[in-house]
Amino acid sequence: MKDLTYIGPVYCVSCGKELKNLMPEVDNDYEMINGGSIGHIYAPYGSRYDTDIFQVAICDDCVDKLKKEKRVRIVGNYIFSETRDDDGKVIPGQGKSL
Ligand SMILES: [Zn+2]
Repeated sequence: MKDLTYIGPVYCVSCGKELKNLMPEVDNDYEMINGGSIGHIYAPYGSRYDTDIFQVAICDDCVDKLKKEKRVRIVGNYIFSETRDDDGKVIPGQGKSL
C-alpha cells in the first residue's frame, strides 16, 4: 500500500519551500527529492485522524534547524546500521536499520 507517486506541488511543512522531484524524467516518485524529504505518517489510535495516512515534506535546511532545537530527531538509517548524532559521531547501541 506504499504509494510513493510524486504529486506536486509538495511544500516543506515548516517553511513552505516547494520540494521537487530530482529526476522526474527517470522516476516520478518521491524517493529522490531535491534538498528535502517526503514521507508518510500513519495516524495511530488516539489521534482524531486515526487510520489516515499523511504525506509530509520537510526541506534539508529545516531539518538542520529543527535538529538543533530537538524538534526533529534522526532515529535510524535505511542503508547503514548505525545512527549518528548531530556532529556525525556514531551513537553506540543506537543503530537501527529500517
Ligand atoms: Zn523548510
